[in-house]
Amino acid sequence: MLNRPFEMTINGAPVSGAQSYDVINPATAQVFARAPDCSSEELDSAIAGARAAFSGWARTPVDDRRRLISDFAAAIAENVGELAQLLTMEQGKPLKEANEEIMAGVHWLLETVKLDIPETVSEDSDERRTVTVHEPLGVVAGIVPWNFPVMLAMCKVAPALLAGNAMILKPAPTTPLTSLRIGELARGILPAGVFSVISGNDQVGPWLTAHPDISKVSFTGSTATGKKVMESAAGSLKRVTLELGGNDACIVMPGIDVEAVAQWVFWGSFTNAGQVCICTKRLYVHKDVYQPLMSALVSYAANITIGDGAAEGTLMGPLQNQAQYQRVIGLLNDARAKGYAFVAGGEIPESPGYFLPISILDNPPEDSRVVQEEQFGPILPLLKFETADEVVDRVNASEYGLGAVIWAGDEAEASAIARRLDVGSVWVNEIQHLSPHASFGGHKQSGIGVECGLDGLLEYTVAKTIYSAKAQ
Ligand code: NAD
Repeated sequence: MLNRPFEMTINGAPVSGAQSYDVINPATAQVFARAPDCSSEELDSAIAGARAAFSGWARTPVDDRRRLISDFAAAIAENVGELAQLLTMEQGKPLKEANEEIMAGVHWLLETVKLDIPETVSEDSDERRTVTVHEPLGVVAGIVPWNFPVMLAMCKVAPALLAGNAMILKPAPTTPLTSLRIGELARGILPAGVFSVISGNDQVGPWLTAHPDISKVSFTGSTATGKKVMESAAGSLKRVTLELGGNDACIVMPGIDVEAVAQWVFWGSFTNAGQVCICTKRLYVHKDVYQPLMSALVSYAANITIGDGAAEGTLMGPLQNQAQYQRVIGLLNDARAKGYAFVAGGEIPESPGYFLPISILDNPPEDSRVVQEEQFGPILPLLKFETADEVVDRVNASEYGLGAVIWAGDEAEASAIARRLDVGSVWVNEIQHLSPHASFGGHKQSGIGVECGLDGLLEYTVAKTIYSAKAQ
């Protein structure tokens, strides 16, 4: 057990919580810490404190808000070593990736504060001047999943606070600790109540989304939960931004350097043990390069060290939690029972932690579960195609529309395909790069609204148009 308490940050002060619950290290399946299990009274207090802080924060000059958010980022960066260790212990990812995630969160804070909230003059005539301004909404709830607890939180915290809102951050029940520690770092930098961090079991999310004093819910998680969030938010007509599930395709066209692309395809599919919303979950390979790419991918996968993320040399960690581990085992068992061909993995090892092998399937049917469902684990179906029209239809047949990747020797052909895909982000000849200056969001059942960039920032505001007559 870690020999230190973890506390929530409510009204700028530590709150241990009347109740607490176990936090498990997925590499060992052992309890290593306890986190506060927020009660409804504690949540009410956090929301009341945030409401009280909101008006002062909204009136704080934007440059002062920028400075305080940057100071907060600096405090996180100064503690990156300790935060990364904690993140690896609770999330499972290799320490190097935990470091990168935290520094990505810092980058998001520092870059987002460079954005300006525009005022738009739509008329400036002899009769009137018409200006649209964007005002903060109030108290925003940030609800985050367990795959990138820090990075996904900072994508919300940065624009919410810059726009002048107060925020209450709720990490996933299985990965609360790094966020709680980040809340601790914010105390004394951000004014009390402006940024609160709470933790707790499954009851806390629905309390937040139903609470009448929350003005907006910025949610990242599964599509099923996103629908519940939207339904619950409707009660007081809260704004919602929903960043949801995906079943991203990667399309590999001929004319590529197979060995080089195989490595990129591998990391585009298996980073964080496949637990990335924009990881490739269906790999469509043109028939002319199908066999060589499959061989190169299988060879590359054979050299990946899977283990405890805290151990030297680990390149892939465990699944993050028992429920996800069982879900992916269900998909592996289904594929085995149906007799689909595995060219790597497929077996379920005996292990104290939630470890699964890298599993690659050779051309399973398009309607199989492993192709149709978001696996969110280290399992990838390779699918053979012949023409660009065919592959575009197969990719677009999904109810999801988050992202897609295209590898092609012919860039013009790749660009033409990119424009035909019904997804929020497409990467051509690179893997899933993200920018704090570019909109990110899902089409279809992958989400509503966007995060990042100016469009993402404006989702934390409400427009107000002021018409001023020039003559009586
Ligand atoms: P999840 O939907 O189970 O949980 C996400 C968060 O919602 C957690 O904090 C959870 O406690 C909370 N929650 C659960 N039920 C709730 C309810 N009824 N009301 C309010 N909050 C509730 O998702 P998960 O399993 O933690 O995360 C994996 C999913 O997240 C995958 O589907 C993945 O694709 C998606 N994801 C999407 C993006 C994106 O940007 N589009 C990014 C990362 C992950």
